[in-house]
Amino acid sequence: MDAGDMGPALKEVLITAEQLSKRTEELAAQIDADYAGRELLLVGVLKGAVMVMADLARAMHLPVQMDWMAVSSYGSGTKSSGVVRILKDLDADISGRHVLIVEDIIDSGLTLSWLVGNLKSRDPASVAIAAMLRKPSSAQMDIEVAYTGFDVPDEFVVGYGLDYAERYRNLPFIGTLAPEVYGGNTSR
Ligand code: 5GP
Ligand code: MG
Ligand code: MG
Repeated sequence: MDAGDMGPALKEVLITAEQLSKRTEELAAQIDADYAGRELLLVGVLKGAVMVMADLARAMHLPVQMDWMAVSSYGSGTKSSGVVRILKDLDADISGRHVLIVEDIIDSGLTLSWLVGNLKSRDPASVAIAAMLRKPSSAQMDIEVAYTGFDVPDEFVVGYGLDYAERYRNLPFIGTLAPEVYGGNTSR
């Protein structure tokens, strides 16, 4: 799927597939170096982080394990409430293990800070975060993101795993939608 297939729905390509792939290589090299000699469990947050996880894991040289969680943070709207529900929990016990949460995007940071707290309560050796995208509002949150791909403006973005109403996840790039697609309400 490319920008042309989206027709008038797409406003702008913010980050190309090439840029995503290059940045993924860089992040993978950093993570390889930081976790050398340790066993790492990558925890992907469904569904948005599927592409990030798949590409990051393949760009890494360290042997890693992968597990998945699904949480609901948005409820009926599209803005984080901080009220998080586990829809699918990890399969594995993480006590004593090094955990790296892999996320698509950090916006308010509410979902991730809840998730970090939840995982830390399971007695892991460490918990860190990798997020491909970061929005400006996350700066207000006291949450440390060890690995970030790109800073994006406070606009609703889609592609590379990120959806709008479950669509656009398979775009290989990150783009913004035309306002008429989502009603022009960026505060969601
Ligand atoms: P937060 O709790 O940090 O506000 O939001 C976390 C989740 O909201 C992300 O993992 C992602 O699923 C969703 N989200 C936040 N901003 C966007 C966006 O611009 N586009 C899409 N598609 N999802 C977003
Ligand atoms: Mg997500
Ligand atoms: Mg979504």
